[in-house]
Amino acid sequence: MMHKDMCIQYKDAVINKRTQCSVCDNRELIEIMNMPELPITGLFSKEKQKDSFSGIDQSLLWCSKCGQGQLLNQVNPEILYDSQKYTFRTSLSSTAQQGTKVFIDYLREFVPDEKFNCIIDVGCNDLYLLHEIKSFGKVRIGLDPIWTSQENNIKDSDLHVIGGTVEETDLDKVLPCKPDCILSRHTLEHIFDPQLVLEKLIDCATDDALFLFEIPGFDSLITRGRFDQVFHEHLQYFSLSSFEALLNKLGAKLIGYHENYHNWGALMIAFRKKGAAHRNFNVAFTREDIEWRRDLFFCQMDNARKTLYEFKNTNIYGYGAALMLPVLAYHLKSDLSFIKAVIDDDKDKEGFFYTNLPLQVKHSGSIEDFYSSTVFVTAIDNVKPIMLKLLQNRPKHIIYPLHII
Ligand SMILES: [Zn+2]
Repeated sequence: MMHKDMCIQYKDAVINKRTQCSVCDNRELIEIMNMPELPITGLFSKEKQKDSFSGIDQSLLWCSKCGQGQLLNQVNPEILYDSQKYTFRTSLSSTAQQGTKVFIDYLREFVPDEKFNCIIDVGCNDLYLLHEIKSFGKVRIGLDPIWTSQENNIKDSDLHVIGGTVEETDLDKVLPCKPDCILSRHTLEHIFDPQLVLEKLIDCATDDALFLFEIPGFDSLITRGRFDQVFHEHLQYFSLSSFEALLNKLGAKLIGYHENYHNWGALMIAFRKKGAAHRNFNVAFTREDIEWRRDLFFCQMDNARKTLYEFKNTNIYGYGAALMLPVLAYHLKSDLSFIKAVIDDDKDKEGFFYTNLPLQVKHSGSIEDFYSSTVFVTAIDNVKPIMLKLLQNRPKHIIYPLHII
């Protein structure tokens, strides 16, 4: 039993509890996965873990009417985001750059001449997308709370940044022009009330505006049984059917979609402001389908843990210092303390410790007993480059926690 003083509790961590579907207002939400004390992700520190962090209770809910997955509890964003001192920025990660390229290629299908008057990127992060589409629009505007109080640091006269969220910003007041293109990548899933945000964006745009939104798709998460991708920051899990239902509700019209299956099953959805309500997509899964795949995921976690324990008295390394590793460890029901270190190819991560796991990150160049060791793939979403590397520089055993790659 842990000593009470050693356990860091998050007081008032939950600021909102969901009582009805965020898309269709259905009050009969079904609990798919209950996760008591689910850990926070993305916490690293320079010092070895001293305190034990408790997680925060969470639950994945699902709406059988529209197919939307959603979290029960909204954790205070100050706990989730302020803690991420070493969070990644889009331009640094090659996977993220690749994803941006796929997004721009899809955008081009709707505007081959690449001409807009005024583009907004909602959740613009480090402005990587807006820089990459410089040729697409006269005026480009980024909106993101990370730019709060740094708005004047931009040198480009056609590029504006607004520090804030859509919810708290008076768009009519602050926008220099009426947008005819609104883009957003991996932002809507972080929002407690996506309907309110979409409504505001639709209202501020020109009548013929093009919208292109990218979110992680729930359907592919279920198909692949990737329930380890459910975490506190993603409050929404959209499927094609639920996104379309949301657009219908707002009088908007879905005009196309594209799935980037191997990048978090990312779903790109294009829509316009107006159109007759139409249901093209049915809810893709039944409750039984989802529960069956959830149970398959749990079985894989059990087997991965048992397999790892078989080697626990030998050298085991993790490979890939993923931000999400605390959630994987949670489902493995282990703190992974039998792992010697987590290897990563990024020199900047060398020496850091996971704040909520007893694990340190070591650079791949510094591991001497690699070939005689067992390597456990800890960054599931980077399995391709990791596997290519591991199969070329073969350690004794490679363990991958899931059955599907
Ligand atoms: Zn619903």
